[in-house]
Amino acid sequence: MASDLDQHFLQLAIDQARLGQETPGGAQVGAVLVEDGQLACAGFNEGDLHHDPTAHAEMVVIRRLCAQRKSTSLKGLTLYCTLQPCGMCTMACLWAGVSRIVFGAGREDVNAVYFESRHLDSADFIRHAFRSDLEIEGGVLADTCSAFYAKKEEPAPAREDPAHDPTTPPK
Ligand SMILES: [Zn+2]
Repeated sequence: MASDLDQHFLQLAIDQARLGQETPGGAQVGAVLVEDGQLACAGFNEGDLHHDPTAHAEMVVIRRLCAQRKSTSLKGLTLYCTLQPCGMCTMACLWAGVSRIVFGAGREDVNAVYFESRHLDSADFIRHAFRSDLEIEGGVLADTCSAFYAKKEEPAPAREDPAHDPTTPPK
């Protein structure tokens, strides 16, 4: 269940999304990592800043905190993100042992351009990884978060990312 504390930390992720929006090369997805009710790391999407298609906000904070701690384990930490983590970021949370994911806007709330064309639901990754101890919860401050991302009824913003090229399933 999302608590007042969850809303507080998701608000910090929203602040990061704003910062990303205002930063050249940044983008309007924000994430924070929280441990024992304390902010441990904050960041935003830095893809265009570093010409790195993997520099999603979640990857940025996971990499940054693990590097700081010289550790590959984020066990016990909660990741807050303004947008439902994509497949890559969900798997990164699994590899890092993150204990809980809380996100704002879900896939259905935003333009399809914000997800890979063959999107698998984050919850499916967790189920198939046998990580029943990793909680995932969405819809916290969803309206504020969705406002960052074009609605699905609107035409998609042009993106060069190959992940967004239309694909057909293999036979
Ligand atoms: Zn991602």
